[in-house]
Amino acid sequence: MPEIEGVGVTPALRAKLGRLGLERIDDLVVHLPLRYEDETRLTAISHAVTGMPVQIEASVLDVSVQFRPRRQLVAKVADDSGEATLRFLNFYGSQTKQLEAAREDGRKLRLFGEVRQGFWGPEMVHPRYRLVAADASLPESLTPVYPATAGVSQNSLRKLIAKALGQSDLSELLDKSWCQRHGLFTFAEAVRLLHAPPPSANSQALQARTHPAWRRVKFDEVLAQQLSLRKAYQARRAKGAPVLNGDGGVRRQLLGALPFPLTAAQQRALGEIADDLVRPVPMQRLLQGDVGSGKTVVAALAACQAIEAGFQAALMAPTEILAEQHYLKLRAWLEPLGVEVAWLTGSLKKADKQASQQHAATTAHLIVGTHAMIQESVDYARLGLAIIDEQHRFGVAQRLELRRKGEKNALPPHQLMMSATPIPRTLAMSYYADLDVSVLDELPPGRTPVRTRLVSDARRDEVIERIRGAIAAGRQAYWVCPLIEESEKLQLQTALDTHAVLSRELAGLRVGLVHGRLKADEKAATMAEFAAGNIDVLVATTVIEVGVDVPNASLMVIEHAERFGLSQLHQLRGRVGRGQHESVCVLLYQQPLSETARARLKIIYENTDGFEIARQDLQLRGPGEFVGSRQSGVPVLRYADLEADADLIELAREMADTLLREAPERAERHLARWLGSRQELLKA
Ligand code: ADP
Ligand code: MG
Repeated sequence: MPEIEGVGVTPALRAKLGRLGLERIDDLVVHLPLRYEDETRLTAISHAVTGMPVQIEASVLDVSVQFRPRRQLVAKVADDSGEATLRFLNFYGSQTKQLEAAREDGRKLRLFGEVRQGFWGPEMVHPRYRLVAADASLPESLTPVYPATAGVSQNSLRKLIAKALGQSDLSELLDKSWCQRHGLFTFAEAVRLLHAPPPSANSQALQARTHPAWRRVKFDEVLAQQLSLRKAYQARRAKGAPVLNGDGGVRRQLLGALPFPLTAAQQRALGEIADDLVRPVPMQRLLQGDVGSGKTVVAALAACQAIEAGFQAALMAPTEILAEQHYLKLRAWLEPLGVEVAWLTGSLKKADKQASQQHAATTAHLIVGTHAMIQESVDYARLGLAIIDEQHRFGVAQRLELRRKGEKNALPPHQLMMSATPIPRTLAMSYYADLDVSVLDELPPGRTPVRTRLVSDARRDEVIERIRGAIAAGRQAYWVCPLIEESEKLQLQTALDTHAVLSRELAGLRVGLVHGRLKADEKAATMAEFAAGNIDVLVATTVIEVGVDVPNASLMVIEHAERFGLSQLHQLRGRVGRGQHESVCVLLYQQPLSETARARLKIIYENTDGFEIARQDLQLRGPGEFVGSRQSGVPVLRYADLEADADLIELAREMADTLLREAPERAERHLARWLGSRQELLKA
């Protein structure tokens, strides 16, 4: 494998290229143009239209450095149609000399940029330019423009990449007739064409990235992603896991004590989990179910299976409020059955924390808590199952850490992740391809669906009356404060103000407040009061977004709903409709609404199904919201688009399996070509 030095990279340049992720010759080969510039045509100065980028070829008439209004390099240039003034506010002395030399020896300037009408006639400010011989011909094909960085010019990238193409191994790793059948270029054809399109290439398709050469590149990229996921999956399985083969005793007791039977969906998911846990390979399963579908009890029963087998289970939640709810509920369910439950969060006093840690390291059966569970000082005696609620709220490193904790004293634990944010199909097939998924596609019976009302802020008084009505009928209400993303301080102030105003407007009712800045025990105390019915109206920031479960709350008001994301609104709305009472979610909005805000509110108004909402959300906002690279640990796609290229994902999935089975060495070469130095990151 030739080193990057082989194409003439000095150590200084090497460091700069590193910032672009260009460390090897292969990296240069797949560093593809961001866009193309059309330098095949010239525009006459007199024909340049303001606001349109053009290429002009002109001779230099005069060069001077002027000082008014500030120091600048000014050049007069002309072509057959007229004259123009060039202005450079930042310039080097060498630039002045260069332009003067061109004036003397008659070389021409190729200028790229916009021409505008200045006080003294046509003007170009900071145009890009190149000096060419007077009779130099124009390029016949599009010029690639690459992602670049300070100190690495387009020109040097072009040269490096051309050399890399000449020296690199571009051999085909896929079956050629298979490629043909699926309308895919060979790899060599594709990268050569994209880096240096021939004049005959369809320039529109190149710009729009719909050209078959792009298609091949996108396919390859998705294939690399699939291969790395498959390999990570296999590596994980190779390590083994404890066999959690309990006698079912604790599970039966818990089922007997629950005030409700499981839904068919819960039973199905539990069956899938139970099957995984008795195998000597680590489970990596996502339990996906809309808000209120009853994931907690499934987690509890899975934990029982681990406990029956003599192992510990851990449940980690992203917020203190949520973790505490889990702790209280699980303790109520399980302690009567002789299960020892430990509680581990950051807000515990030092002595209590030490006691909890001691408990986790010794006799505790189930450990519930927040990020504090993965701190350095925490050890588990024999962790067999790690459960992570609202998994998308954690970074991949945090999820891994919990697994590592388990590996210390035993085999890696099984993992159950839970989420109410449904993963759209294309994402499930790509970024999450190494997960097994169980779906709770059914809500427990007896729920009345939440009715959603869109109400203009101008009718706030009616909403206040509605709250009074709900409280008079014995229910409780949430009031969610407007989201202020730019400033946490402002967010807090808004919550305090809202609480003050509502306390006045709802005089006689008990109005509580929770927000992110409260201490954990203050938050917990307020939540407990609300759950106990001692608070009528809970004013809250989005801290209540996840998991909060107070069945008697039947009314939710969300102020400035237009500022929230769709999945956030869906999660918030899911806090009501948890009991038998008719529930309402009022989305207050402020006029005038922007086009997108209107579209978003319409989606949330018309849909109750979290999947459908997530699908439309993905369309509106792209996958970033669901999986940052930090979160997933899976290489982010640079060229392929999940929705538009869904067919390629499907194709790549099959090909990944085939390659790993039939030609593992070619699979390795493909991974090296596409991910190279980044592969280490993916061991997650
Ligand atoms: P989520 O999936 O959003 O985490 P929870 O686990 O908090 O949902 O469950 C929501 C509510 O439904 C809880 O009060 C829970 O006790 C209740 N629940 C769970 N399963 C059932 C069931 N099969 N029948 C009736 N109620 C259930
Ligand atoms: Mg939950």
